[in-house]
Amino acid sequence: MLFTSQGRVNIKRKQYEDDQGPLDPDCGCYVCRTYSRAYLRHLFRSGEILSSMLNTHHNIAWYLNLMARIRTAIHQDDFEAFRKEFYHHQQSEVETKGGVDQ
Ligand SMILES: [Zn+2]
Repeated sequence: MLFTSQGRVNIKRKQYEDDQGPLDPDCGCYVCRTYSRAYLRHLFRSGEILSSMLNTHHNIAWYLNLMARIRTAIHQDDFEAFRKEFYHHQQSEVETKGGVDQ
């Protein structure tokens, strides 16, 4: 399970088989700047250890970024608006937009 700005991504799903886009277009981590969803899916389905390494790298980067955004919102006394916006995007999970488990 991967966390993105658009919701959670279950990278093993068939809908990502030919997806050449980044895992999270709003994430600036090494994985999102370098690899496609299709490649990450291939690594996962092949049982490559690199899959766990890249997925973990992205998830940690994503959470570090989230914590930084939360701190900024708190400092600006705007946390409630941030929280609503965050959950609005998270509830529209990427994987519910089509595709079949495989
Ligand atoms: Zn990333």
